[in-house]
Amino acid sequence: MSIPTYGNYINGEWITSGSTFENRNPANTDEVVGLFVKGSAADVVRADEAAQAAFASWSALPGPARGNYLYKVADILDAKFEAISADMTREEGKTLPEAKGEVRRAINIFRYFGGEGSRLGGMIVPSERDRVHMFAFRKAIGVVGLITPWNFPIAIPAWKIAPALICGNTVIVKPASVSPLSSWHIVNACHEAGIPKGVINFICGSGGEIGEALVNAKNVKAISFTGSCEIGEWVHREASKRKLRIQLEMGGKNPTIVLADADFNSAVENCVNAAMFSTGQKCTATSRVIVEEAIYDKFVAAVVERTKKLKVGDGMKPGIDIGPAVDKGQMETDLKYIGIAKEQGLQPLCGGERLTGTGPNGEDLSKGYFVAPTVFADVTEAMTLAQEEVFGPVLAIMKAKDFEDALRIANNVPFGLSASVQTSNLSRVFEFIYKMEAGLLTVNLPSAGVEYQLPFGGTKDSSFGPKEQGPAAMEFYSDYKTVYLKY
Ligand code: NAP
Repeated sequence: MSIPTYGNYINGEWITSGSTFENRNPANTDEVVGLFVKGSAADVVRADEAAQAAFASWSALPGPARGNYLYKVADILDAKFEAISADMTREEGKTLPEAKGEVRRAINIFRYFGGEGSRLGGMIVPSERDRVHMFAFRKAIGVVGLITPWNFPIAIPAWKIAPALICGNTVIVKPASVSPLSSWHIVNACHEAGIPKGVINFICGSGGEIGEALVNAKNVKAISFTGSCEIGEWVHREASKRKLRIQLEMGGKNPTIVLADADFNSAVENCVNAAMFSTGQKCTATSRVIVEEAIYDKFVAAVVERTKKLKVGDGMKPGIDIGPAVDKGQMETDLKYIGIAKEQGLQPLCGGERLTGTGPNGEDLSKGYFVAPTVFADVTEAMTLAQEEVFGPVLAIMKAKDFEDALRIANNVPFGLSASVQTSNLSRVFEFIYKMEAGLLTVNLPSAGVEYQLPFGGTKDSSFGPKEQGPAAMEFYSDYKTVYLKY
């Protein structure tokens, strides 16, 4: 079977010539999912000019008309739901049911923000002065650069592209190089929906080259970035020099606190789900479980027992719980942190190595980047595993004397993305809600698994700038114009 080549999209045209890079299946590296044209800084300049040229007419379209385009994009994605989901599993490795959930979310996001086109409200308030009418209304910002990571390769591009477009901006999208096909599908749907040329542009290629060109592109007014802290901090420094509007969503070290009064079985399930599903590669994944002393030993044993039952293998096959790491680099990072934990005196209670044997469906795991779901207990606050993001199926369990101690440990990291508490005590729930330093909180649920209708984002080193998703997204992608009118 010939390998498809996917182009970049600039000014309404697919650019399919030029050198390419491979997108390989992390569950079976013999399979090349596609070849992607490697964009350049010069492509960013052309996209920037096209986006600027398209801005006046796109932003002048009535909001409901832009909304109709977004509804069409949602319908096109919906019609290709199965194929897009399978492509995501092949390029990113998450299981097919997980990929389907994510594609469904992306479709819902386009529908949700399509509706926002009819609700682009402003404010009207009474003036202190006689016969003065005063109000403020939203207006688009201009050309917006969107830089996305590999772990939610369609949902994250969707939750940036849809609000950016509905507010009347034009966009340049730079997807992660290890999983560009999922966001390619969004751009292709925009093309098929007839979104005017220049409104959306898509450039794959080296993060350093494309990212730098994007942050420095003449007409770009704002950058929304999701990815690592290291690159996010670079984006912040560079973009600040030009006074760009910036939104950064970065790493985490998310805790789940388990108290002795929790529903034990559901707490075990929530912790294992949040730590291991999607191979631990969710920004909201639980990577520290902090357990009250009274149930510590029993809880650790139950988590290990449940983790050992997880089926690791090719996510396209039935019955698989955990797919591979997204690429060799991420697998090596997972193994590196397992090694550091061992050097610091810990032994894994399960997992702790790369899997290279035969998978549950007869697949040859040595062809992929599979890491056994790994649990360490007795992790203490100063240990690397308690402080640094792994972004893999590696869980650190920590002991706390009581709720106050657990909350203190939970807050004792530089990050603040998501956090969870498992308890039946209502007062503790509220203490947690008010004192936990994180942007996303869950109670008696896994720490991961958010919806698109509410603000999304963290605090401390995890995030910078206005929140994403829900009504909050409109704040980042639009500005107010305020009017005082004497009649
Ligand atoms: P990453 O290495 O920072 O890459 C993110 C994006 O930035 C990619 O598109 C990458 O392109 C691009 N990039 C690389 N170098 C750049 C540069 N110098 N200038 C501008 N852009 C550049 O992160 P990742 O490994 O893809 O994603 C994993 C990280 O994302 C984890 O830390 C995770 O916690 C975080 N994350 C956070 C959230 C959240 O909402 N807080 C959500 C998801 C993921 P290339 O792929 O071509 O290098």
